Amino acid sequence: MTKDEAVKGDPSDHRLPLVIVGTGLAGYTVAREVRRQDKERPILMITQDGGESYSKPMLSNALAQRKGPASLANFDAKEMAAQLELTILSQCVVGRIHTSSKELEVQGKRISYSQLVLAVGADPKRPKIDGPAGGELLCINDLDDYARYRQKLESCRSVVILGAGLIGVEFANDLVAAKFEVSLVDPAPVPLSRLLHPDAGSEFANALSAEGINLQLGRSVRHVDYSKLGYSLTLDDGVTLYADLIVSAIGLAPRASLAKAAGLDTREGIVTDAYCRTSAPDIFAVGDCAEIHGKVQPYVLPLMHSARALAATLCGRPTPVEYPVMPVVVKTPAIPTIIAGTADASGRWSIEAIDTPNGKGLKALCTDLTNGQLKHFSLLGGAISEKTALLGTMSAQHVRT
Ligand SMILES: Cc1cc2nc3c(=O)[nH]c(=O)nc-3n(C[C@H](O)[C@H](O)[C@H](O)COP(=O)(O)OP(=O)(O)OC[C@H]3O[C@@H](n4cnc5c(N)ncnc54)[C@H](O)[C@@H]3O)c2cc1C
Repeated sequence: MTKDEAVKGDPSDHRLPLVIVGTGLAGYTVAREVRRQDKERPILMITQDGGESYSKPMLSNALAQRKGPASLANFDAKEMAAQLELTILSQCVVGRIHTSSKELEVQGKRISYSQLVLAVGADPKRPKIDGPAGGELLCINDLDDYARYRQKLESCRSVVILGAGLIGVEFANDLVAAKFEVSLVDPAPVPLSRLLHPDAGSEFANALSAEGINLQLGRSVRHVDYSKLGYSLTLDDGVTLYADLIVSAIGLAPRASLAKAAGLDTREGIVTDAYCRTSAPDIFAVGDCAEIHGKVQPYVLPLMHSARALAATLCGRPTPVEYPVMPVVVKTPAIPTIIAGTADASGRWSIEAIDTPNGKGLKALCTDLTNGQLKHFSLLGGAISEKTALLGTMSAQHVRT
């Protein structure tokens, strides 16, 4: 099939392509799984970026791994198209979806689909900060952002990171290990405040401080100005920080506007049922953009599970998304950390400092007051050696409930 045959035609024609918008981990996982199950089906992928296949989580620890932007891309779009036997339109923005005619508008052209998968990811949230340089924040959410970041680092010594969530703490650890001066600012009193109990958060904070990161917790940036060598940031308690570069890592917002404009149900993300089906016929959503069965889960493991279930559904075997227990691994060599569940779990908390053959660590558990089931665990430092046992406990409960 030529590219033109793949993208035009009568919507009732079953040989119209399955169209996947987005070539991130979600888009490529769906494409790979569908191709594994169906060698014949025409598939067209469309992406506004270059279509490289890469592991996004590596962006926040690539300095330590001595990887530059070019070496992070495992395959380019051409290689992916050949591997998966499909067509990829890269550097092409999907501007509109016409649900009634089952067409997409892509840079002035209309493309018909038999089924459509939206795997369009999420946009970094940008804080609104006063001052002449308040807009000069770098967000790092894809390979192009990462290339800009690495280029800026070449003439940089000091970096301020806004946001001590998962991505902020990982970038901070990566930068300090590469001998940059790093400050980390967050309004919460501890890092990873949504994931860690405050006591575990304090332990995590101590390890980052010991590594040389200047933690400015319980504070936010009020004003950013240019200074002689870079930027000066005024915090709400009057402290001034100076930096050559400001990185914002305050969170992500699912890209739902394309779906919303087409009349699909959206809330925080593109709303789907347990089968990744949106409110429009033959349109599905998966990955960071999707709110599957009431939840946005912008992590790799949920994305993999939902993409595999969706591929089965697209191949004629309707399969609901089912998640096992999915721990989050925090890539901070200063204090390796594994977390399952959130910090707001209610129940009986026990926080224990432990000594293991791998070194000292901290174990935080939260158990249900009524049935004693494990609702949360976080393992810091040497305590990560207990991961397998605790995961086993949680998974066994998960199967029973
Ligand atoms: C720095 C960093 C570190 C992370 N570390 C971890 C980790 O350690 N563990 C973990 O579980 N998760 C981690 N995550 C989260 C994880 O990487 C994401 O959940 C996952 O990569 C999202 O994949 P996606 O395919 O949904 O979205 P994306 O990778 O963002 O892909 C979106 C795709 O949609 C395309 N697109 C968007 N709009 C359009 C349009 N209108 N037209 C055409 N194309 C469009 C884009 O070009 C892109 O190809 C991290 C994220 C970041 C940023």
